[in-house]
Amino acid sequence: MSQSSHEPVSTLVAELRSGNRRALALALSLVESTSVNDGTRKTELLETLGATPYAGSRRIGITGAPGVGKSTLLESFGLQEIQRGRKVAVLAVDPSSTRTGGSILGDQLRMQHLAQHPQAFVRPSPSRLTLGGTTAATRDAIVVCEAAGYDTVLVETVGVGQSEIEVVNMVDLFVLLVLPTAGDDVQGIKRGIMEVADVVVLTKSDLSDVATKRAMAMYLSALGLLLPSREQWKTPVVPVSAPIGKGLKDLAGVIDSYFADDRSNLLAVERTRQLVAWFDTKLRGSMYSALISNTDVEQLINNFRTMVEQGTISPTIAVDSIVRRLSLSIEQE
Ligand code: GDP
Repeated sequence: MSQSSHEPVSTLVAELRSGNRRALALALSLVESTSVNDGTRKTELLETLGATPYAGSRRIGITGAPGVGKSTLLESFGLQEIQRGRKVAVLAVDPSSTRTGGSILGDQLRMQHLAQHPQAFVRPSPSRLTLGGTTAATRDAIVVCEAAGYDTVLVETVGVGQSEIEVVNMVDLFVLLVLPTAGDDVQGIKRGIMEVADVVVLTKSDLSDVATKRAMAMYLSALGLLLPSREQWKTPVVPVSAPIGKGLKDLAGVIDSYFADDRSNLLAVERTRQLVAWFDTKLRGSMYSALISNTDVEQLINNFRTMVEQGTISPTIAVDSIVRRLSLSIEQE
């Protein structure tokens, strides 16, 4: 249903800020909505919430192949963080939507105890959106969760596509989950993901001590060959076993040291960089859509595309010509 029929945005925001879960769910649906009818309310909501400066919230991305143990870890780690006095929101980015029942039921069943906890909010993955749409909505969803008082936002993504690299650009800390048995395949893990991992977690470390130790050594040496993921940070490898609670305190310790007070300047600088990068990306996309929504421009582009197709003009010359004509028409205005 369209959100436009609901209460005024100011009321929604007041309820959201007071911790009302229904308001949180409504606000999240609004930022995820692609319906034009919701456009004005969505803008009003985001304007009211504003771009939050770094204020101690923790945005943590978690990625790993299906079956590696993400939901098991999110559940145990989330509950542990709540015990340590934090409020935890889980957002799932799953553009493939191939996960069994990528639905409300799916996610809530995956993190049953966490989903039911009053200090937690587990948001099911929006399955309808395209990749770009999902990640744009997730950025806004993070801000919405923080406005509702969630100081720890866990953004989960399945490490199979491009989405995790996009998620890196919206979180403070990026955690890569790997299996100890995959130790031999360190080379097989996409180098791009290893490079941006701030913490590597070896899951299922209860299965074999030997394999875990071997995998730790291999990941540490592989990481040693890469540039550091962040300034003044060395990516640790943490073995855990979420079902028996092993390694969860170590993981929390590593995360605490990452978010230590003496690193808050670095974190603030990174958040600003992310905001500017987001602005640039969004601007590029929106400028292009705005341009081609003009029928004259669309016609101009189509003409040149046809010429490229017919081999009468090279793509470079075609694009240069289009840009020159557009620049001229802007100058004349
Ligand atoms: P996801 O697809 O990455 O979310 O993975 P799940 O959390 O659903 O875990 C996949 C399977 O691995 C489930 O059957 C879990 O019970 C199991 N699992 C997860 N963590 C561990 C662990 O630390 N040790 C063992 N032995 N099994 C685990």
